Amino acid sequence: MEGIPEAATQLRERRRILVFTGAGISTESGIPDFRGPQGVWQTVDPDEFTLDRYLRYPETRRRSWQMRMNTGSLDAEPNPAHRAVVDLWRTGRMIGCVTQNIDGLHQKAGVPEDKVFELHGNMQWAVCLSCRSRFPMPEVLQRIRDGVEVPDCPDCEGILKPDAVFFGEALPQKTLGEAIRRAQNCDLMIVIGSTLVIYPAAYVPTYATDAGAKLAIVNLTPTPFDQHAAVVIRGKAGEIMSKVMAEVRLS
Ligand code: NAD
Repeated sequence: MEGIPEAATQLRERRRILVFTGAGISTESGIPDFRGPQGVWQTVDPDEFTLDRYLRYPETRRRSWQMRMNTGSLDAEPNPAHRAVVDLWRTGRMIGCVTQNIDGLHQKAGVPEDKVFELHGNMQWAVCLSCRSRFPMPEVLQRIRDGVEVPDCPDCEGILKPDAVFFGEALPQKTLGEAIRRAQNCDLMIVIGSTLVIYPAAYVPTYATDAGAKLAIVNLTPTPFDQHAAVVIRGKAGEIMSKVMAEVRLS
């Protein structure tokens, strides 16, 4: 496939590689993305799920929890693309993995927890917006299965929200800062499965290219950054990344 030898050369020659992932790396684990050809936003209006609406309308909260029930990401397993990232980690040339994903699959695959920078939070937890207590997501989903439509905080009855960043909500600043520092420090950023249109997350690759790093992109569909990339490979992340890492290992 076009681009694989070039990507393998980049991954072999660079010494400070930063991986940047989006929902597309997890679709082969059965978690739908939002903006891809089969994405959730083909049938659901994203404007319905802003933080403002979530706070104001119980009906938005009910629909949001229902969507959460249907995504199934708590049982999902890493796929070959996540495992290829772990292979890359084991070469000792990767300085971290910045992810927009909220599924925890990089850590489940074997990237150390403190090397994964989750820009959009993590769906394994729910947080109370009043007292800030956190609760494991399986406990909250069990309450919904038991008949509760809009679960509230068991401690203070405040509004409970998945601990993922909603539209209109600020990104976790410490994590964003770490991601930017690593982007400014890397010599290659490889983007896997992201449209690169969600800001501020999509600024992260610009910090890398502005500091002189090369950019490689593996995505099913075009991105606005393709013209700035040294390598662009269009296709499925699992298939492509397995082949790329096989070539890296061969040399
Ligand atoms: P996104 O903009 O990063 O889009 C996903 C991209 O992946 C699309 O361009 C699509 O063409 C591509 N893609 C889909 N399947 C692919 C595959 N098998 N191989 C390679 N590329 C593939 O992200 P989004 O879908 O618009 O989601 C928006 C935000 O919502 C994310 O940043 C994240 O915070 C959250 N989200 C997370 C998950 C998750 O954690 N798995 C899933 C959906 C949405």
